[in-house]
Amino acid sequence: MLSLRDVALTYRNGVRALDGVSLDVADGAFVALLGPSGCGKSTLLRLIAGLEKPSRGSVSGAENTSVGFVFQDPTLMPWADALTNARLALDLAHMPRLEADARARDALHAVGLRGFETALPAELSGGMRMRVSLARALAPEPRLLLLDEPFAALDEITRFKLNDDLRTIWMQRKCTVLFVTHSVFESAYLATRVAVMTARPGRIASQRDVDLPAS
Ligand code: ADP
Ligand code: ADP
Repeated sequence: MLSLRDVALTYRNGVRALDGVSLDVADGAFVALLGPSGCGKSTLLRLIAGLEKPSRGSVSGAENTSVGFVFQDPTLMPWADALTNARLALDLAHMPRLEADARARDALHAVGLRGFETALPAELSGGMRMRVSLARALAPEPRLLLLDEPFAALDEITRFKLNDDLRTIWMQRKCTVLFVTHSVFESAYLATRVAVMTARPGRIASQRDVDLPAS
């Protein structure tokens, strides 16, 4: 589905963030992307989302796909309740209010936040704010979910819970997931494929498939 061929990206300040990255992501796969800080993992996700253009090489398969993006920092609108935050992409797409509300409510339920629709971000824990951010990404029902170290700032127990819930969401929604993490544990627990990037200039050093858990 998603295919990167010999992709390079040099930023305008001359930093070579990526150089010769090739990666295939099958439909429905859960790919964990590991690698040291600064090796270009975030750049790779932004490239796939279409927020950056490659200096060389090709990125194909994501052009007409709805993409959900989750960052390490949930960046919620502090004045808006959980439902309104979860609805953001639908509002930007001018979806009718009732339909957007229904979809956003479904997404909040999928991330375990039933009953928190009217809560403000400040009233929620760090883990719950990340859940709202995940719901916001899920509400448009993306086929591809890009997650950039989403749980890195959370305590270990909250991470375990979110890992479980993310795995359930992936299995139920059958979306494709590309998940940047520093955690070997998370990679082994969640991913069907693990790709490891090397330090600058970033490339994929190795990729291997993990046996799918029986479900
Ligand atoms: P990672 O996510 O693996 O930590 P990044 O993709 O954030 O890596 O960054 C890769 C390299 O590109 C780093 O050296 C970083 O400093 C640089 N970089 C990231 N974003 C920009 C930018 N917008 N402009 C210039 N350099 C950048
Ligand atoms: P943190 O991110 O602060 O570590 P959690 O996200 O695990 O914490 O949630 C902190 C507390 O918020 C929990 O102990 C629980 O009481 C409440 N909470 C979290 N999620 C839910 C939920 N889906 N339903 C009800 N209460 C919840």
